[in-house]
Amino acid sequence: MPDVSPPRNDELMQRDLRHLWHPCTQMKDHERYPVTPIRRASGVYLEDFEGRRYIDAISSWWTNILGHCNPDINAAIKDQLDQLEHVIFAGFSHEPAIALGEKLTALTPPGLTRLFFGDNGSSAIEIALKMSFHFWLNSGKPGKKRFVALQNGYHGETLGALAVGDVALFKTTYAPLLMDAIMVPSPDCYYREPGESWEAYSRRQFAHMERVLAEKHDEIAGVILEPLVQCATGMRMYHPVYLTLLREACDKYGVHLIADEIAVGFGRTGTLFACEQAGISPDFLCLSKALTGGYLPMSLVVTSETIYGAFYDSYESMRGFLHSHSYTANPLACRAACATIDLLQQGDWLTRNRATAKLFWDGVAPLQDHPHVAEVRQTGMITAIELVKNKQTRQAFAWQERRGMRIFDYALSQGALLRPIGGVVYFMTPYIISPEQVQQLVRIAIDGITLAVAD
Ligand SMILES: *Cc1c(COP(=O)(O)O)cnc(C)c1O
Repeated sequence: MPDVSPPRNDELMQRDLRHLWHPCTQMKDHERYPVTPIRRASGVYLEDFEGRRYIDAISSWWTNILGHCNPDINAAIKDQLDQLEHVIFAGFSHEPAIALGEKLTALTPPGLTRLFFGDNGSSAIEIALKMSFHFWLNSGKPGKKRFVALQNGYHGETLGALAVGDVALFKTTYAPLLMDAIMVPSPDCYYREPGESWEAYSRRQFAHMERVLAEKHDEIAGVILEPLVQCATGMRMYHPVYLTLLREACDKYGVHLIADEIAVGFGRTGTLFACEQAGISPDFLCLSKALTGGYLPMSLVVTSETIYGAFYDSYESMRGFLHSHSYTANPLACRAACATIDLLQQGDWLTRNRATAKLFWDGVAPLQDHPHVAEVRQTGMITAIELVKNKQTRQAFAWQERRGMRIFDYALSQGALLRPIGGVVYFMTPYIISPEQVQQLVRIAIDGITLAVAD
């Protein structure tokens, strides 16, 4: 008999490490921490090659909202696969993209009616930055070529996206390659005074933005920010009033508002789009991650007819937006996106999520009294616990101690994928998570925190 026993985790890990280079990873770490090969997934669970299951508490990098191997999304992709897998999108079109345009523009904030496709989040950011600059160029204002962004923001890893982001760990090395963006202090409410409300603090922080726009609007094309939650820098949160004020100021000073909802779109913050909580429409809405339910790489920049109109002219005018990606509007990804939107509309997910979020909150709120917890915060389906060395001064643990890794390790051993960002432990689960699974995650996180802060 030939040996047909399936490969084990160890064997796959060794094969992986021979040829592959993983993202956001110092590969030498894998001498100590294993790569976990995943054989299959279903609902909130990932399963490895030895049959161990892990609750995906971070939605596989914030992409999955309706569960792994969701039967309806699977069926849509399989159906599409037998009709059309891909076709050039310049000069050609197909039903999945057309249907996505119709479905999505019925849901996006008012005035956002025009879709341009990219194939990952960072490329959507590049597209929005180029379009914004190019709009002003086409409008006879070539001097408007700088971008304003928030401190502690994150917009992806390609050079334009990195330039408007502010994560030193990712950015410093490449600084010589990056355009010079104007960084403004964040409305991040972690820094509010004791007793100060989120609203008061976010409003107060807007003064920095107002000043920059008042002084430099002649050279500014747009402001880019993550509405409500700065995810990659530890799920830092702020009040919607900041977005309302920003919309007013952008209109006043003639500057575009670019909303990066790549992580927070599709219900994550409690509304379908985070901008809704401020009652605003951005000039550019960047979407990706949950756009395809977490299935396939695709992104979108959704913009207005005003922006579109500034590019619409004879070919000879040379005003067109000639940007392209090979896999623009991939039909399989468009079908996954359509199925995701249909499911979001059929189920009452926003209501269900409010109940789920309350379970998370009730589970971890007692940690507010923990001697190493500076803050427990929540916006919609994002709940975060900020660990510190010193509760009074809020001094963080030294990053070299990598206490978050202890929690990651412990959680894996207990059947959960938790992946703290520095000292911030967070839940950002698929919406389909059950109350029992929430309880289980809360228990694992609390025990993991206890272990991680002990010396
Ligand atoms: C993930 C993310 C991006 C980048 O998307 P990629 O698909 O990883 O390139 C941009 N902005 C925000 C807010 C993100 O969370």
